[in-house]
Amino acid sequence: MKRFITALMMISCAPVCAQIRIDADFAGGNVVIDKISSDTVYFRPDLTGTQGKWFYWYFRATSEEPQTWYFKATQTNILTSSGANYSRDGGYTWQRIDPDDHLSTNLFSHTFTKGDQSVRFSFGQPYTQRNFERFIKKYQGDSQLKISTFCHSGKGREVEQILISDFENEPDYKILFVARNHACEMMANYLIEGIIDALLSGAPEMDTLLAKAEIMIIPFVDKDGVEEGDQGKNRLPRDHNRDYSGASLYATTAAIRKKIPEWAGNTPWVAIDLHNPGIKGEGHEKIFFVGKSQPALHKEQKKLAYILAVTRRGPLSFEKDHNFLTFGESWNKSTSYQKGWPFSEWAASYFGKGLLVTTTIEFPYALNGPQPITAQNTRYFGKDLIYALSHYLNHHKPSK
Ligand SMILES: [Zn+2]
Repeated sequence: MKRFITALMMISCAPVCAQIRIDADFAGGNVVIDKISSDTVYFRPDLTGTQGKWFYWYFRATSEEPQTWYFKATQTNILTSSGANYSRDGGYTWQRIDPDDHLSTNLFSHTFTKGDQSVRFSFGQPYTQRNFERFIKKYQGDSQLKISTFCHSGKGREVEQILISDFENEPDYKILFVARNHACEMMANYLIEGIIDALLSGAPEMDTLLAKAEIMIIPFVDKDGVEEGDQGKNRLPRDHNRDYSGASLYATTAAIRKKIPEWAGNTPWVAIDLHNPGIKGEGHEKIFFVGKSQPALHKEQKKLAYILAVTRRGPLSFEKDHNFLTFGESWNKSTSYQKGWPFSEWAASYFGKGLLVTTTIEFPYALNGPQPITAQNTRYFGKDLIYALSHYLNHHKPSK
C-alpha cells in the first residue's frame, strides 16, 4: 500500500446526494486524487520517488449508490489504447472496460451496479504477492516444485525463488526468469503463470525438459516496490534495472549478482528478464526482444526469437524480426544505460563463460499489434516461451 493513503468522500449533488470513496489502501495501491466534483473523480499516479512521469495507478472506488461515475486523468498518457481495466473481485481477475466507457484518451466511466459496490481500477492488471499465492496453491505438494526465500528485500520482505525440475539428476541446464525489476510491470507475472502451468502440466516435452534442466523464477525482484505500489521504473537515484553494476543499492539485485553465479556453477544457463514497455504508442504495443550489443549474443537472441516464432501455438503473434528491437535502434542505445547496467547486461558478462543466451523481453500492457492483451493470452505466450526454450536447448549439445 502507498505510504500516503488517499481516502475521500464527496457529496456529489442535490437533492439526491451520492457518495464515492476512493482509496489505495491495499497491496500495490497507487493514486493521487485531485478532486471529486459532481459525478467525476479527477486522478493521477503517485510518482513518489520517481524521476519524471510514469503511469502506474491502481485504486479502489466504492460507490454508495448504483450509478455511473466518470474518472478523469489529470496527467496525460496514463490510460492505455483500450482505456483501463476493472476488477470486481478485489484485484484477482481483471476485465477491460467496455469500449463505450472509454470516452477519450483521459476519461473513462464505470457504472456501479449496486449500492456500496467496490471496484478496483488500473491501466493494467495489477499483480502482487497475494495474486501469486492464490495462483500457486493448486501446485502445493507437487514434487517438481520448490518455493523458498531467495533473499530479503531492503524492507525485510521475503523475495521468493521458485525452483522447478524433477530434482533427480544433476541438471544439464539451468534457466532463470526474473520479473519486476521494474515494480509496475505486472504483466510479466501472467507470463510466469503460463510458464509454471506449462512446466507442471505433465506434457511429455515439459517432463523431458524437467529431467535435464532446473528452472529458477524470481517473480518479484523489486518486492517492496510491487507491494507498496511504486512506479519502480526510473526510481531515484537509479532503478533496480540499472543496479547491476558498481555497488548495488538494492538488497535483491545484490543477492542476484552474488547468488545466481553460485547457483549456475558450471552448468550452461539461460537468463530471461521479463518487462513491460511504455503504456502505448510507437514501439510500445507489441511483444519484443531487446537486442544486445555483443554480436555473438545478438545471434543467440535471434536464434531463440526464430524458434519462438516458428514453434509458438498460442494466440499472440510473434515474428523474429518484427518483434525484435536491435541494439542501436530507438531507445536501445548505450545512452539508456548510463546510470548502470540492466540485468541483461550483467547476465551478458557470463556469455561464453556458461551463459548460452540472455534477453530482456518486453511484453505490452494492452495491445500486441491489433491483438488485445488478456491475462489468459499472456499465459499462453508464457507457455510458448518455455516451449521455445526447450527447443532451443534441444539444439544445444551439453559439453559435460
Ligand atoms: Zn522494465
